Amino acid sequence: MADARSTPALPAVTRRSDYAPPEWLVPQVALDFALDPSATRVRARLEVVRGGAHAAPLRLDGAGQEPLAVTVDGVAVDDWTLDGEQLVIPLTGDAHVVETEVVIAPDRNTQLMGLYASGGNLCTQCEAEGFRRITYFPDRPDVLATYRVRMSADKARFPVLLANGDPVASGDGDDGTHWAEWHDPWPKPSYLFALVAGELTVNRDTFVTRSGRTVQLGIWVRAADAAKTDHALAALKLSMAWDERVYGREYDLDVFNIVAVDDFNFGAMENKGLNIFNSRYILADPDTATDYDYDAIAAVVAHEYFHNWSGNRITCRDWFQLSLKEGFTVYRDQGFSADQGSPAVRRIEDVRALRAAQFPEDAGPLAHPVRPESYIEISNFYTATIYNKGAELIRMMATMLGAQRFRAATDLYFERFDGTAATCEDFVRCMEEAGDIDLSQFRLWYSQAGTPRVSATLEHQPGSGRATLNLAQKVPDTPGQSNKSPQVLPLKLRLFGAETGQPLSDEQLFVLCESYASVTFETVTERPVVSLNRGFSAPVVVESDRSAADLAFLARHDDDPFARYEAMQQLMLDTLVAATIEGEADHDPVIRAVADTLDDALDDTGLDRAFVAEAVLLPAESFIGDQLSSVDPEAIFQAREALRRDMARALDARWRAACDPATIRPYAYTPGDKGVRRLRNVALGYVAASGAADAAALAYAQFEGADNMTDRQGALTALAGGTSAERDAALDIFYHRYAGNALVLDKWFQTQALSSRADTPRLVAELAEHPDFTLANPNRARALVGAFAVNQRAFHAAGGAGYVWLADQLLALDALNPQTAAKLLPPLGRWRRFDPARAALMRAQLERIVSAPGISKDLFEQASKSLEG
Ligand code: ZN
Repeated sequence: MADARSTPALPAVTRRSDYAPPEWLVPQVALDFALDPSATRVRARLEVVRGGAHAAPLRLDGAGQEPLAVTVDGVAVDDWTLDGEQLVIPLTGDAHVVETEVVIAPDRNTQLMGLYASGGNLCTQCEAEGFRRITYFPDRPDVLATYRVRMSADKARFPVLLANGDPVASGDGDDGTHWAEWHDPWPKPSYLFALVAGELTVNRDTFVTRSGRTVQLGIWVRAADAAKTDHALAALKLSMAWDERVYGREYDLDVFNIVAVDDFNFGAMENKGLNIFNSRYILADPDTATDYDYDAIAAVVAHEYFHNWSGNRITCRDWFQLSLKEGFTVYRDQGFSADQGSPAVRRIEDVRALRAAQFPEDAGPLAHPVRPESYIEISNFYTATIYNKGAELIRMMATMLGAQRFRAATDLYFERFDGTAATCEDFVRCMEEAGDIDLSQFRLWYSQAGTPRVSATLEHQPGSGRATLNLAQKVPDTPGQSNKSPQVLPLKLRLFGAETGQPLSDEQLFVLCESYASVTFETVTERPVVSLNRGFSAPVVVESDRSAADLAFLARHDDDPFARYEAMQQLMLDTLVAATIEGEADHDPVIRAVADTLDDALDDTGLDRAFVAEAVLLPAESFIGDQLSSVDPEAIFQAREALRRDMARALDARWRAACDPATIRPYAYTPGDKGVRRLRNVALGYVAASGAADAAALAYAQFEGADNMTDRQGALTALAGGTSAERDAALDIFYHRYAGNALVLDKWFQTQALSSRADTPRLVAELAEHPDFTLANPNRARALVGAFAVNQRAFHAAGGAGYVWLADQLLALDALNPQTAAKLLPPLGRWRRFDPARAALMRAQLERIVSAPGISKDLFEQASKSLEG
């Protein structure tokens, strides 16, 4: 037991209820950077103004640096103090000019927050609290300033100098240096500051806004990657036009630049006029990027672009309001993506992502409301709940308002709060006012964590022609929250006749507000089957008593494609849950339903192949686990494999038809071709699962013959789960073919880490010793460590070696990059969902992490909450 005196202080908690407006405002900033990787000098000139009648000194946030000089109104002062890492400067008047100077070392910045080096270039990441690692500043989102930035650097080494806003001047200096000055006229919080210096080439284009202004677009990358930027650039132009058309939002600067960097903690960052991206969300060509990558690039480019209004023009008052910009912007990028191809497939993908990441989060120790009440480290709150559940909240409001009133409400929001730092409450009030709707109870979605559960039973009285749908809802307890109130659940419903397959009612929107309610349908002339939560209109778990036959019926006859998918998933899930618990189940209903769907697709009766590929995919092992009171990973794996094998064998001819090499056409990135590829690769997976003697040869032939990464990666994935000679050969060829391409090597690591082979834990541990493995690059760490931890069978293999290995990796990574380490911890926190033996082994590793000396507050928060929750 450590005695009290030696126990380090617990990290401080920040609470939403403690919000107070800033004591000092900073309307204008001028920054001067003498850039150098090992010692960059930063001079900051802040025009500060007292915010109201108070006598408090100026407090500036800092982290990891010390002031070399401080002046007030041009005069050096020495009456400043340091309070922790804050620089405290007494000021007598109501307006002053405060200047500071610091020196920072970007080449030693492994956290990738603030100014850091990546691939020889210098770049910044300031959200959420990285700006304080660059200079002293009130580093909070409600302090809005205009920025003037001057950079000087060695011209040969850093020929390109970029910052926010518009370029205003540049020139040569002494000793081979040059300089550039940029000015951003739009007031912004410090988290949107950015600069980039380096050797980069640009892919340029222009966009003419609807009011006729020409914007210079540029995507900046290493010279060798220039050919891989066309897709991102096209996506940017589509996004700009879409935001004008759908939300009436126009771009507001003369230039819009994007820079791709290899070392990045997240997907991308919406810095005003200078987005900085993880290169995986920019670089694409058919040989190195899958269709999934192409789609993700377009979605992230759109997301960051859309932040220009939902995030930058209107920002967040404090970080508890994070979903104000993130939930809304995800909703906007989902709408954009839906408009690019098949809306149904896009909705299926979004719901799958929600179920894979957000539902488990909401059911575990790290559950938090969309608007949290407290945090230790804000970086830990860039979660699926803030982003994806937050987007579902916006979607529900849009559904209840209808398209026209929703647009009126967003117009009101953008107009009323332009140029300000707003709150979630401000947004909801605009929805209420312009939507003419009372959202008092709806606000519970922002404050109550946990996924509501809805149970539904349908009663039919044949004589009366009447049917009654009985609904009940319950919001489960989550850490710190119990006995919750019922929420507002907009449920889209429709009845179908079991005999005729015809609809018996129009689609209706029923808004369930109470714990219990029933809906009555008249003129029900035959036995009805209910289609409910169509389009996933509410992000809830639905439990219904619909039979396998009724689910199979809906999978074929429902007119809402999402509902068809959902019925098929429920049918599969019911079968797999029964098989896991009882050791076996009747596979025939699933096989027949899948056969029907495939026949409809292969006959080309109008079913989109991408949709079919989604519909015939079995639920993930982890999602099956989420349905059970205690997860038995091996039993789930075996039950799923048995169903897969039976489906594979029973429908062998159909799978072979779908992946017949004769159907392969030269690569094109069109919705139709993407659908064919997706179904082909799902089908190839089933052929592999059948155990057919020629399965590996078939996959290998596709691997060798492929003219694109989608088919190559699809074949590699099909092979990776097996033990064939073809598997070893393909992995080897893939590795050598792409040596030096970091993004493709990530796929090589990830494919192996996700493999269902029984020896995956050992193979992953070996891969961690591979010369190409490094924890210093977040993409690489996620590709191996992150992927392994979500491979349910491998991570939870009996004995707990996976838990020890993950904890080892997290502790090593924490010393370099706490933010990325903390993001990878949650799988270890799910111990309550497992048997006592596994739970104890998982807890032991959490305890080991919490008590490790010197761990970050990021990792501490995740691990300690995971132990408590
Ligand atoms: Zn965002």
